[in-house]
Amino acid sequence: SARQDADAPIRATDSDASLARLSAVKKGYLTDPFIAHFVPRAQSQPSRPPLINIGTTIRSESIDDLVESWMKLCILEGLKCQIVSLGAGSDTRFWRIATGSHKDLVVKYIEADFAEVTAKKAMTVKKSSTLMASLGDPSTVIIGGGGTTLSSPVYNLLPADLRKPPAEGMQAVIELLDKDVPTLLLFECVLAYISPELSSALIKHFASYFRDSAPLAGIVYEMFGLEDSFGRVMKNNLKARHVDLQGVAPYNTKASLPQRFLSLEFTMAKALTLFEIRRQYLSEEKSKSMSQVEMLDEVEELDLVLSHYAITWGIKIPEGEKFKSYRE
Ligand code: SAM
Repeated sequence: SARQDADAPIRATDSDASLARLSAVKKGYLTDPFIAHFVPRAQSQPSRPPLINIGTTIRSESIDDLVESWMKLCILEGLKCQIVSLGAGSDTRFWRIATGSHKDLVVKYIEADFAEVTAKKAMTVKKSSTLMASLGDPSTVIIGGGGTTLSSPVYNLLPADLRKPPAEGMQAVIELLDKDVPTLLLFECVLAYISPELSSALIKHFASYFRDSAPLAGIVYEMFGLEDSFGRVMKNNLKARHVDLQGVAPYNTKASLPQRFLSLEFTMAKALTLFEIRRQYLSEEKSKSMSQVEMLDEVEELDLVLSHYAITWGIKIPEGEKFKSYRE
């Protein structure tokens, strides 16, 4: 349909994300044994520029750290957890967690994206013995919905259009979730493509579902502050590829980013730009090893780009005495 065609450039941003990840892995910035499975002809894909490799590395490792902190909170409370990644694309996080030390903690891992994207991912997973190995007994892995869904005891892949009213669009996701299990929502590089009203409605939908029963955390990675001259260049580059950034406009300053969560009565929310993370939070060892991988000529450009991307996280804790560790 016309609408599906109009969405093709948005779906194509997933290839950018996975190519960037593959490039950072091949250059040795990042470790991810799974990404090559999701990129066709992975061996012969050209590398991305140093600036992209560094940005991808900081983003990826910072989100890993936040997810790790969330899982540790759940362990402290003696609880399991659920993870829902919306606009998940070819993300490999499920497999990295499933082969890591917290593999038994996550009782449900749900990914949603456009049907074209989930169909491709479902096929890739089904065809790979490495990826299938993390899904449990193969007889419990079921492809359905004309090839667009994959279900297994923990990992579930579902088609969804995030622009639909959440009561409709998120119904299949919500049905898989246990109301009493702490849940983490991931929006990695996706909310820019959705209007602010819709992304707010989306988060609110999950917040009301878990309101009295369990903590809900959210992590958002996004571009922001695109109103300055450099931001306009970034925006125009995407526009030239017919990608419309509807969701960026109201979040022009770093201070406005936590409002995504605070306006929905989250207990806390914070944001850091990739620039700040690079300057203040990376270990000296990591900064040093990153700068030794390859020559970076455009240091100023790197700083400028990194200061237009941010990670925001928030948590909403039910009232009362329970879930104390999540408050601290
Ligand atoms: N989260 C992944 C990552 O960080 O590697 C993929 C990011 S990619 C830049 C954006 C993803 O969001 C694409 O896979 C795209 O199809 C998905 N997406 C964008 N708008 C969407 C919508 N309205 N409904 C479902 N998925 C959407």
